[in-house]
Amino acid sequence: MSRSVKAAVIGAGVAGLCAARELRREGHRVVIFEKADRIGGMWIYDPRVESDPLGIDPNRETVHSSLYRSLRTNLPRQLMSFLDYPFAKRENGDQRAFPYHEEVLWFLNKFADDFGLVELVRFNSEVVRVERVEEKEDEWSVEWRTSGSDSVSQEVFEAVIVCTGHQSEPELTSVVGERSIEKWPGYQIHSHNYRVPEPFKDQTVVIIGYGPSGYEISRDIATEAKQVHIATKIPNVQVQRLESHNNIWLHMMIKHVCEDGKVVFQDGSFVYADTILYCTGYKYHCPFLETNGIVTVEENRVGPLFKHVFPPRLAPWLSFIGIPYQDTAFPVMDLQSKWVAQVLSGKVLLPSEEEMTVSTEELYRQMEEKGLRKRYTHAIYPNGIEYFNWILGQIGLPPEDWRGKLFLEIIENAIAMNYGYRDEWDEAYWESVIKESSQPLVNEDEAKAFVLN
Ligand code: FAD
Repeated sequence: MSRSVKAAVIGAGVAGLCAARELRREGHRVVIFEKADRIGGMWIYDPRVESDPLGIDPNRETVHSSLYRSLRTNLPRQLMSFLDYPFAKRENGDQRAFPYHEEVLWFLNKFADDFGLVELVRFNSEVVRVERVEEKEDEWSVEWRTSGSDSVSQEVFEAVIVCTGHQSEPELTSVVGERSIEKWPGYQIHSHNYRVPEPFKDQTVVIIGYGPSGYEISRDIATEAKQVHIATKIPNVQVQRLESHNNIWLHMMIKHVCEDGKVVFQDGSFVYADTILYCTGYKYHCPFLETNGIVTVEENRVGPLFKHVFPPRLAPWLSFIGIPYQDTAFPVMDLQSKWVAQVLSGKVLLPSEEEMTVSTEELYRQMEEKGLRKRYTHAIYPNGIEYFNWILGQIGLPPEDWRGKLFLEIIENAIAMNYGYRDEWDEAYWESVIKESSQPLVNEDEAKAFVLN
């Protein structure tokens, strides 16, 4: 017989919405706690900048979203669809394969409406503490504070699903080298607080990091800045101006900075800069979670987590959706949610605690053997498809390969620095690849029947 639990989902971004839909589908009772006043998480553009633009001050006024105004998706719609719910084009919307960010927020709102998820959300409710009740496995106390009030409310749940995102808390590695950055006189800001290029008009900007944020923001800021210099970890990179832009240069990492505003790169070349913009990523952050040390965040590893979802000792009552990165976030979160919901209902069995622990330790051991630092634990590229197919197998669905093909194409374009890939995307071709190689994953009729309006 199927088990129905009372579940608290924390966060109403993509992860929380997927989790809530699947939990409901499995017959669980769901409450979503969301500190904002609407759904969408990262996809709600907020023009405000935090009071500390580097995000160091723990008492700063925080802003959740890291979106900047001009952001277009870096994945095509097919890779931002849920398994049985496509990110389809809409009349009068942005029809492009890689649309503007507002289109994503619209899609998430439509998804939430279609599945009756909004009524499950307690808005303006920030969860401030989650802990087990007297060490009981399936009793979790959730405490939350409603905006504008000092008092804390509390309720007990059988399961807690953490869906709070991990791209709001700036990571500032010691990338500025051997001399103290404090004495550098210019403006410093993390990409989390980058919104628009205008404040950087006619400036010389140094960007640290050339991951997705550094890649995109360098182009955006170059529309106003005089010069943009990107410090990268690309091995043996020679100073070079990008062919596509006459005001963007690539450099080695920074060696040191000087009190007169000079920024010196590792090959000895230098520039006098007005701003250093850190595109150095984000930290996992769960300040509300109290597990007596069972789950920790150490050097950006949330662990131990079996398959990045379940802490073996607390499974299945505590789980995390959306921890992996360097892959297709939306379908992965959808799939993880299906797994969690079905494990909680007893439809799908987890391995024993010991087996899950061994599997997790094995991953950590392999990382150590390869010399990979802890902070890359949840970076699942290039094993994303393997991971995806493994979870598909757990919930009785066949493996698939088209997602991997599309994702690889994106990665290849990024490596080739083909910034125009979005507008060169051959939609018809990729649609045919998908048609040829995929099996319908979830029974679509069943999914439609579930749609409430
Ligand atoms: P979030 O969207 O961050 O949602 C978390 C939610 O939890 C928020 O609503 C927050 O308010 C709430 N919350 C947090 N703490 C609490 C608390 N204590 N109590 C109550 N509520 C809480 N992915 C793509 O697929 N395509 C893209 O093009 C793409 N572009 C991106 C661009 C940028 C700049 C960034 C930073 C990320 C991008 N991503 C992209 C990844 C993106 O983050 C994910 O797609 C996805 O939105 C993450 O969803 P999430 O639900 O895990 O987290």
